[in-house]
Amino acid sequence: MAQKIVAGNWKMNLELEGAFELVDKILDEDKPEDVRVVLFPPAPFMYPLAMLNDGSFDLGAQNFYVKNSGAFTGEISLAQIKSVGGSIGLIGHSERRAYFAENNNFLKEKVDHALANKLEFIFCCGEPLMIRESGKELEFVKMQLLESLFHLTADQIRGGIIAYEPVWAIGTGKTATTEQAEHMHAAIRLWLTEKYSKDVADSVSLLYGGSCNPGNAKELFACQNVDGGLIGGASLNAVDFNAIIQSY
Ligand code: PEP
Repeated sequence: MAQKIVAGNWKMNLELEGAFELVDKILDEDKPEDVRVVLFPPAPFMYPLAMLNDGSFDLGAQNFYVKNSGAFTGEISLAQIKSVGGSIGLIGHSERRAYFAENNNFLKEKVDHALANKLEFIFCCGEPLMIRESGKELEFVKMQLLESLFHLTADQIRGGIIAYEPVWAIGTGKTATTEQAEHMHAAIRLWLTEKYSKDVADSVSLLYGGSCNPGNAKELFACQNVDGGLIGGASLNAVDFNAIIQSY
């Protein structure tokens, strides 16, 4: 059974005071016991937020580099992330792909590096608008998974997390319909079943991301193959984020 997850990706937003306020309000709210909450704050806030955490959420890194240490100015290692309380990383977010030229080959390296260093990760995939309009979204997303993720063994991918985030829905206010989300999620579950087994496929959490908000979360989370959400904009507002967590 896949775990239910609501994750907040704060991107390059907030300053320390705002981060404290947001986390205070998230901590104040009771959460459904079976929903795992993960926060991806900007890296400088990880340690101070880890100090506040009473175990209510997991802390994740929006980015990391594929070396253990050395002359890589501006980059962050997995050991450094772990040393400040991080236990999970984002891989393949469309903004890293678009603005930092992270391609499928490099993302495969990140996947392998995270595994080698025993850091859990959320692997993001999703098609841009042009591909959706051409009707080739299934082929496109399948290729992203084949080239960066599906080289893993069944034991390596068991219990993993994949976020489907159509690029045209990220930060645009345009959410995929429940039919569009479920169609892609069901396809990903099927590919996992074909490549590995039903047992493995059912253990992988499939999150939806893209303008998810309190108004559409319930409907999206009710889809058979949607196991939660990766939330951008709405995760910066405590009322909205708490409402999304309560949508299960
Ligand atoms: C994201 O960046 O992962 C995301 C889903 O953003 P938003 O919710 O703002 O569309």
